[in-house]
Amino acid sequence: MRSKERISYFYDGDVGNVYFGPNHPMKPHRLCMTHHLVLSYELHNKMEVYVDNLGEDCPVFENLFEFCQIYAGGTIDAARRLNNKLCDIAINWAGGLHHAKKCEASGFCYINDLVLGILELLKHHARVLYIDIDVHHGDGVEEAFYFTDRVMTVSFHKYGDLFFPGTGDVKDVGEKEGKNYAINVPLKNGIDDGSFLRLFKMIIMKVMDCYAPGAIVLQCGADSLAGDRLGCFNLSIDGHAACVRFVKQLNLPLLVTGGGGYTKENVARCWTVETGALLDVELPNEIPENDYSKYFAPDYSLKSPSGYMENLNSKSYLNSIRQHVCENLSSIQHAPGVQMHEVPPDFYIPDFDEDEQNPDKRVNRHTRDKQVQRDDEYYDGDNDNDHA
Ligand SMILES: [Zn+2]
Repeated sequence: MRSKERISYFYDGDVGNVYFGPNHPMKPHRLCMTHHLVLSYELHNKMEVYVDNLGEDCPVFENLFEFCQIYAGGTIDAARRLNNKLCDIAINWAGGLHHAKKCEASGFCYINDLVLGILELLKHHARVLYIDIDVHHGDGVEEAFYFTDRVMTVSFHKYGDLFFPGTGDVKDVGEKEGKNYAINVPLKNGIDDGSFLRLFKMIIMKVMDCYAPGAIVLQCGADSLAGDRLGCFNLSIDGHAACVRFVKQLNLPLLVTGGGGYTKENVARCWTVETGALLDVELPNEIPENDYSKYFAPDYSLKSPSGYMENLNSKSYLNSIRQHVCENLSSIQHAPGVQMHEVPPDFYIPDFDEDEQNPDKRVNRHTRDKQVQRDDEYYDGDNDNDHA
């Protein structure tokens, strides 16, 4: 049988919604019917499926490619600077688009810069820890590293009530080599600074003890702040920034990115306070005159208090989550090692001998990308060669 990657299958759900008119013989609805039939025969398991999810959530706009290049390039470059010890902490507030999948744009995310940055860090570090404090589950990053112990993903997020993206149950812990190396901390509406920080510090301390990562990537989505347009947590900027301070004092190479955040004046406040925290600079509360001052009217203050939401996370609920996570962590016996290969150069791009390729034969981008990954072989899904 042909291997799965020999067959690429593209499907865009929107295509079936086009209507040519009542008497027209062309019925795009047939595509929906075809697709559902294909699924019902489980043929999708035998192909590389590309879901074109560019639509309402992820619109195509002018300069989309440049936008992706800028934020993903920033995160990759941040990782490279850390690898080369050009800095101890690298910040890219434009990065942190944690929902994007390998073959699918999702939740306003097109390219998963975090995954690319982590892959870069794995060239130099046996183990990388990923921490996510966005109100949404860091599903794209978790999925990318679900089968490997070389990356531990830890996501704190709202879970339940059909909240996007719907994944991130405490029971989802990774599989195969990656079993117990994915940690999910599902929370309910209204969590406040006190309960969030207690849980955050306890879990991260325990993770540090048993996993001993060589570098950390911290996704600082600001939609976990009180008053966010899409979020439902009740964190103050000080509470959010306390997580950043806590991770900073762990004193490992640290890549910090942005993420969600939909009440924009609070996003700007939060990431400014956190830039200050990473620099060990305490910022005066009165916002200095700048081009966007008017957004911070009427009080022009930097800090935002938490709101007045009810915290639906009872003590017993938080205890049960904590216990669950601790049990999973205690089944990790040791920090997994890896036999490091020769370190590939930065921005490694394999050298294709153009003479050997028939210029008349087109190689599609997907095939080319596959070749790039093959040559690198640092991470290739199930065939991950951690213990090679
Ligand atoms: Zn988010």
